Amino acid sequence: MDYRALGLKVGLEIHQQLATRKLFCACTSALVDTPGGQRFRRRLRPTQSELGEVDAAAIEEAKRRLTFVYEATPNSCLVEADEEPPHLPNTEALDIALEIALLLNAKPASEVDFMRKIVIDGSNTAGFQRSALVALDGSLETNGKRIGVPTILLEEDAARKLGETEGEVVYRLDRLGIPLVEIATTPNIETPEEARDVAFAFGSLLRATQKVLRGIGTIREDVNVSIEGGARIEIKGVQELRLIATFVEKEVERQRMLLAVAAELRRRGVRTVPSVVQDLTPTFRDTQSKVVASAIKEGGVVLGWTLPGFADLLKGKLGPELAAHARIAGVAGIFHSDELPGYGIAPSEVDAVRTALQTGPGDAFVLVAEDDGKARAAIEEMIPRATAAIEGVPPETREPRRDGTTVYSRPLPGKARMYPETDVPPIRVTRERLDRIREHLPERPEVTVARLARDYAIHEQQARQLVQEGVDELFEMIAREFGETKLVATVLLYTFGELRRENLNVDNIPVDHLRELFSLLKAGRFAKEAIPDVLREMARGGVRATGAVANLGVKGLTREELETIVDAVLRESEDLIAARGEAAEKALMGRVMERVRGRADGKLVSEVLHARLESRVRPKEKKGKKGKR
Ligand SMILES: [Zn+2]
Repeated sequence: MDYRALGLKVGLEIHQQLATRKLFCACTSALVDTPGGQRFRRRLRPTQSELGEVDAAAIEEAKRRLTFVYEATPNSCLVEADEEPPHLPNTEALDIALEIALLLNAKPASEVDFMRKIVIDGSNTAGFQRSALVALDGSLETNGKRIGVPTILLEEDAARKLGETEGEVVYRLDRLGIPLVEIATTPNIETPEEARDVAFAFGSLLRATQKVLRGIGTIREDVNVSIEGGARIEIKGVQELRLIATFVEKEVERQRMLLAVAAELRRRGVRTVPSVVQDLTPTFRDTQSKVVASAIKEGGVVLGWTLPGFADLLKGKLGPELAAHARIAGVAGIFHSDELPGYGIAPSEVDAVRTALQTGPGDAFVLVAEDDGKARAAIEEMIPRATAAIEGVPPETREPRRDGTTVYSRPLPGKARMYPETDVPPIRVTRERLDRIREHLPERPEVTVARLARDYAIHEQQARQLVQEGVDELFEMIAREFGETKLVATVLLYTFGELRRENLNVDNIPVDHLRELFSLLKAGRFAKEAIPDVLREMARGGVRATGAVANLGVKGLTREELETIVDAVLRESEDLIAARGEAAEKALMGRVMERVRGRADGKLVSEVLHARLESRVRPKEKKGKKGKR
């Protein structure tokens, strides 16, 4: 797809957790699996910002009328519960933010002032997030292109959402207050792959400081996507950087679909969406649809809403968009005419609905089977969304899904959500402080790439990949200890990649277990061909390398044992050897390797096979003709 012709623009907002204690208290920045037992509840409502406006996103969150439940953990205190004012900002965290700013050639602010940013989804107990501008106007060069960094912020992370039940959202406080550096890029990224590469480049730079947290969820990206004629969509909190290209591709697809739908609606002369709602409950008294029947049984209703001119534009198009808006009102799902009859709703019921709503073949309709209040609220939510479809793409925030798709979460937050934090004094950033940080700047990723390629005699492309995937430190540790640098690089890049595609969590294998793997290999306890199997076993069973090798029954063959196997294969392959002579070697190699499966090194097998084959084919000839054909 020609993304440049589509006018694709992508900008990233990178959030990286710092490896220090929390920003406004001395608690440790670690996630906890078991809560400390204490729970408390809060409700939040939107307030006016400094400018006297109330943010649209905040209003919409408030409409969900949720109660927020917070789980305290052993590493949370009264600051996180918003029962105690914030302590002075963590100086180490500010130093790291400034260090990152200098690495990005940004201009540090002379004074750091914390602001409160209204957050009403409950992820902050206080109802706001503290955030401070640290530097302006930086940039990062990647693939020969300059990506601008207009702002670098230091802020506190939000509480960790554990789940949502009807009317209630549960958060754990362990993540709340972990220092985050937020880096916003200019939107001059032009393809999905470039978006992923830029994300990786920033990730490498952040890791170069060795002062950031590592692992899934420690870096999260908001991906802003728009195409010509479309609108800015913010995909919020992407954790899996490898998926960024997919998210962008799918969002481009979605915006193109919405633009095509809008063009078709205008072609059909659709200008408005009526808000007339009809109660169709009597039509469904004897319905076979389980969903509808149970809604009615619980005292609910079936409401019908007509979308004139929308026929065939719902299924796989506007349908999912409307359903996402209905969910805001607490409705699990909707039925629409493009997929009816279906879901137990009979053709006769569809005809009755069409008659009651007076719809023609060009019209669509939506049914909501729910409690009356909720069903009406759901349609109220869907009307503006359907109306926006006539224009094209409504700007909004979307939530990433694991499969690379996204789902509507709320309108884009506006500017009306900042006001000064009066509990935290401003901090002057002195020249001395900046000089001290500047003196100890870490090796930049591009320098690391060149050094790895040179010092370990690996290909520069491999070195770059090691840095990009964040395994360069691991590589250096293992390569320094065991040598075999090319093999180590191959395992960390390709074998790991292969196993990840099998959904195995190789990234969770402890470093010590990996060192053990290579030390067993070096000791000849198994052959390098068995590495993928051993790693697979380690990742799957959570066992150490010794255990994995024992489980698999792979142990290194002695030369004598290998010779016995080779001779057996040669005996079984007499016809082949008779027909093709030494040319049979390649085929024979495959047969032997299959038999020794990971118990002998390929090079050794080849050597033994060559010698045994030669003595069999030309037993009377003298040695020394090796290699001549
Ligand atoms: Zn604390």
